[in-house]
Amino acid sequence: LAATFGLPPHYNCGKGGANELKAGKVLIKNAEVLTMQPQADMLSDCSVAVADGKILAVGPPPAGFNPDEVIDGRNHLVMPGFFNAHCHAAMVLLRGSAEDLPIDRWFNEGIWRSESALNEEDVYWGTALAVCEMIRGGTVAFADHYFWMRQVARVVEESGMKALLAWCTFGAEGTAEMGNVSLDEILAFTTEYRDRADGRIKTMCGPHSPYVTTRKWLRKIAGFARQSGLGCHIHVAETSDQVRQSLASEGATPVAYLAETGVFDNPSIAAHAIHISKEDVDILKKKGVSVVSCPKTHMKLAMSTTRVSDLVDAGINVAIGTDGAASSNNLDMLEAMRLASLLSKHDRQDAASLPAWQVLRLATTGGANAMGFVNSGSLHPGADADLILIDLDKPHLTPRHSYTANIVHSAVAADISHVFVDGRMLLNKGCLITLDEERIKHEAQRRGVRMVASPTGTIQRY
Ligand SMILES: [Zn+2]
Repeated sequence: LAATFGLPPHYNCGKGGANELKAGKVLIKNAEVLTMQPQADMLSDCSVAVADGKILAVGPPPAGFNPDEVIDGRNHLVMPGFFNAHCHAAMVLLRGSAEDLPIDRWFNEGIWRSESALNEEDVYWGTALAVCEMIRGGTVAFADHYFWMRQVARVVEESGMKALLAWCTFGAEGTAEMGNVSLDEILAFTTEYRDRADGRIKTMCGPHSPYVTTRKWLRKIAGFARQSGLGCHIHVAETSDQVRQSLASEGATPVAYLAETGVFDNPSIAAHAIHISKEDVDILKKKGVSVVSCPKTHMKLAMSTTRVSDLVDAGINVAIGTDGAASSNNLDMLEAMRLASLLSKHDRQDAASLPAWQVLRLATTGGANAMGFVNSGSLHPGADADLILIDLDKPHLTPRHSYTANIVHSAVAADISHVFVDGRMLLNKGCLITLDEERIKHEAQRRGVRMVASPTGTIQRY
């Protein structure tokens, strides 16, 4: 595999890779089970049986079921894993490097300068670090929007995670794409890699946003996406300035403009979608676009936020994302859910807004739908065995009046004890199975320092 990508053979973040992991027969016994089916149904003192990567039973296993592994689920909650529906995984390398800056200075003086020192190997190790963090936080799949996506695909294959990969393209007239790759090469990736890794990899086209790309470029990408049956994953209407700019230059809001260029012709992902009109909501609904809210970035960069409850009420599929750690500082879906719920209550001055069970749905079934993993996101026989165990035997999770409230408003990533993807165990009692975490942290530390300290980067240490 390394040779394919022109990298030295020692270049491997894994401990042997997910290919060597067998999806065995597993029986989890005596657990509390949150199925998320149809809403947030709880089953007490319940078993979950897994075989061939699928859930065989929620409840007593079929007669004659002979598991390879039995997990004592007492004091544990089993639920679907989280879907991080918008992130830039390798940006963990810039974690904490551009703090307390308004969004324009954050982009121009911080992120885009440091990213000019980014190389292909950095993306590999940065993504590996991100995946360590995400697995530890109970995330089973992530929607990545970044560069050199073949490296991200390698980490997905080696780690055993699921991912929706979109290779970010700027399409600014007269400017080369990151890494000097051509649009044709970027588009070829999307069809070459779709359904790789036994279907754990899905792809979309990844135009960065309507405000950096040209109409011609968007049309070209949209045409390719339409022909290939792919969607697009794109940043939309993050600031009111972007909307003003779009109205002035295109005579339409960003959402209407993207619909007109064909970007939303197949089920797509609109990240943020903060400053949108009633007509925009109708377009998103009609086009089947999923909207992803990233509440921590919204708060940290002093933006407004996605009106999640309104979109849910309008029948739009909404999911939750962490965004990149350069703005959100971590890839923690428990925290992202908590902030989404709190921000919705605060923003609407309504304590009933976005209750725990609903935000859990957005982070599980909502994300699975947005990312095209339609057989995942809830626990029922026949579903993909993408599930997590949460250790409930903690002071901050006691007593257990409401499991959903405890998860969304009290739990922390360190409470996640086990993670399974397609029935394969990726985290066992808090230990990562597929990834060499020590090596990955070492590589990420030195690469992150190099990027931020590069002549074009900024240094901030306080
Ligand atoms: Zn983003």
